[in-house]
Amino acid sequence: MNEQVSRVYVHGGVSGTVKPRLPSLAHALAVPLATASSLDAVELAVRALENDPMLNAGWGAVLNQEGRVELDAGISDGATGRTAGVLAVTVRNPISLARRVLETTPHVLLASAGAMALAPDMELLDTTTEAQLRRYERAKAGGALDPANFGEPELVDTVGAVGLDSTGRLAAGSSTGGVFGKLPGRIGDSPIFGAGHYASPGAAVIGSGVGELFLEVLASARTGYLIEEGNHPQDACERVIEWLGARSAVSAGLLALDSSGRVGAAFRGGSWAVEGPEGPLTPARLD
Ligand code: ASP
Repeated sequence: MNEQVSRVYVHGGVSGTVKPRLPSLAHALAVPLATASSLDAVELAVRALENDPMLNAGWGAVLNQEGRVELDAGISDGATGRTAGVLAVTVRNPISLARRVLETTPHVLLASAGAMALAPDMELLDTTTEAQLRRYERAKAGGALDPANFGEPELVDTVGAVGLDSTGRLAAGSSTGGVFGKLPGRIGDSPIFGAGHYASPGAAVIGSGVGELFLEVLASARTGYLIEEGNHPQDACERVIEWLGARSAVSAGLLALDSSGRVGAAFRGGSWAVEGPEGPLTPARLD
């Protein structure tokens, strides 16, 4: 059966500030369109974003309080209900390590050394870009690494993708360096099913923003449930973002796709780059 991917949407992280120039995500969409399934497409799109030094995932990730990278990623197959995440790992493409956990282990989550044991053939990543290294040094010298500053709006971004293939299967994948200045060992929402991403036969959802909020309320699952009840993905994203906004002022974004290919995106914060087959989208800004 020909299972060409019919729709993939990618995002480059909600930012707390208005960025003068949003990242172009078109390169991530160019890769997966000829591939076999939505799960492949999501993995390949996220890999492309992880390889983009302008984005906080894989190469380009933010540093933690100790000046080290600790990467999180999660991937979910809506058709089978399988999901997997890797936590605090140091490979260039954590999304592919998450996929390996999904396909080769009986587990859902694997952390640090245990996850890295599955990656002997993968490219390691124990540092980041010059720009991120300078940012860390500046913050350290200026005393801005105080945990009290954690989650400051301008310090948040991440990457992710949702996909639907022509057989109607949905998938979601998310990857991040986390939040700049996080404590060592801090895990965000991105690898956690229902929090930072969600996929079912009826909905695929990706979140972006300060992960603690998404973890506390399982924001991606809530959005997915609304879509499964028949709500348009745009309405579902807007309802959950408004609800999150009533709870916390931190930046937050939700991107969702349903099994008919209808897409929705809404956020609170300064800017958010989202692209799909029709080009850049304009997510509803609700703050
Ligand atoms: N949600 C990610 C985290 O908290 C960060 C982000 O979306 O920018 O780790």
